[in-house]
Amino acid sequence: MPELPEITVIAGQMNQEIRGKRVADIEVRQPKNLNISVSEFTKAVEGKLIDSVSSRGKWLFIKLNPSYLMLMNLGMGAELLYFSPSQKLPEKYHFKLTFTDKTGFTAHFWWFGYIHLVSESDVSNHKLTAQLGKSATDETFTLEYFRGLLANKKTGIKSFLLDQKNLAGIGNVYAQDILFKAKLHPNRKISTLSEEEIVDLYNAIQNVLHQSIELGGLAYERDFYGQRGKFTAEHFLVGYKQGKACPECGTAIEKIKTGTTSSYICPKCQKLR
Ligand SMILES: [Zn+2]
Repeated sequence: MPELPEITVIAGQMNQEIRGKRVADIEVRQPKNLNISVSEFTKAVEGKLIDSVSSRGKWLFIKLNPSYLMLMNLGMGAELLYFSPSQKLPEKYHFKLTFTDKTGFTAHFWWFGYIHLVSESDVSNHKLTAQLGKSATDETFTLEYFRGLLANKKTGIKSFLLDQKNLAGIGNVYAQDILFKAKLHPNRKISTLSEEEIVDLYNAIQNVLHQSIELGGLAYERDFYGQRGKFTAEHFLVGYKQGKACPECGTAIEKIKTGTTSSYICPKCQKLR
């Protein structure tokens, strides 16, 4: 499942590649991905210019000129692939957007995804994105801001990190090593965190997400050009490493159940206090 690093990489590539292009044609093979009818969608998008592409958490924000936003969420995963006129299109896709220069992109969802169109003035009413917290890698996501988010929260730290309303983009994949780096048990109550632990957690979030962005995201996800990321299983510290030695102390890593998710922890480094 793509998380913040993978979506950041794709948004950056899209912004480079398609900004300034004009939409010539839309093909929708799975209308349920849209929030409006295919004809309304097509009518509104065709002829528009791509102003910019950015991301927030797991959502892509494709700004159209004039005055619309195409909001895409790849769900459990998708191939969102650029094509040039000389390239063969993928066999399967649910959505295709072609520009006037005959380049474009296709989207093939593994499970389900969203392609929503909203007018710029109405974007704050788009429920799925309006509730999203800031991306943890946003420059305004400072330590001070993070401290403010944690204030008066009563849940465990992992469920806090996974809740996209608090901060956007962290899922179960990266949460593992973030908590390990900060030496925190996933069920640790937020109210018990010391100032030092909050600083360590903030740094761990930045560290883990930026490392993956630099590596182009997870190796089992593909970017806008179909290339796999370089964040492989070897880069995980404790995530998905049940039974292997903790890189800090050598204790065997355990897989435990935490609420609805599984967690990989070092029982010695991440004691539940
Ligand atoms: Zn350890």
